Amino acid sequence: MEYKNKILIIEDEKHICNFLGAVLTANKYEVLTANTGEYGQAVINSHCPDLVILDLGLPDIDGKEVIESVRKWSSMPIIVVSARNSEIDKVTALEMGADDYITKPFGTQELLARIRTALRHTRTSSADDGISVGGVFKTGELTIDYDKYRVFVGEKDVNLTQNEFKIVSLLGKNAGKVLTYDYIIKQLWGPHAKTDNQILRVNMANIRRKIEKKPAEPQYIFTEVGVGYRMAESEAVKL
Ligand code: CA
Repeated sequence: MEYKNKILIIEDEKHICNFLGAVLTANKYEVLTANTGEYGQAVINSHCPDLVILDLGLPDIDGKEVIESVRKWSSMPIIVVSARNSEIDKVTALEMGADDYITKPFGTQELLARIRTALRHTRTSSADDGISVGGVFKTGELTIDYDKYRVFVGEKDVNLTQNEFKIVSLLGKNAGKVLTYDYIIKQLWGPHAKTDNQILRVNMANIRRKIEKKPAEPQYIFTEVGVGYRMAESEAVKL
């Protein structure tokens, strides 16, 4: 029998919960639901789902408390789906350990894509969490060759600087996920790096000039305003 990924939806709005449940069931996921944070945590502990879709505005506890308690013992993917659209909410949720953040209203295709990314990431991330990972990442015309430290658009080597390469590598390794500015800076320049988005922005402007056809309308690296950057999903990853 084919294994079905188990997804827990923690959401107090019944119509959203039912709608998400129907979409996920139709896409061959096994669905569990909880309408409060406390009950959600109980289901997480008893059923150990493969992925959690979490609303932040719950009637009993804040969804962020759920993230915090799960992260003490598990790296199971958590996708926050919330009506809260403030940058601070997104950044906080991601930094507390949520894997992704989607603002309501959202398209179901987008949600399904993010779920697939999060599930794939769990399967592949355990081996090596460093930036230096071998192999090739490809999306559209863009190729990151991790062994040769080079980035190509089509056949053309775009000649990234060392910092630019590190940023692109990190995003490529986490393709489909939003990485916060702070996370990127700490990964690249160490845990004590002074957070300075300006340096990152300048690097990103240069990267886009080199890899994007229209830097103002990027197709490879997207900006989540005030939060961070996201690399388009890969079509084939060889590790
Ligand atoms: Ca709610």
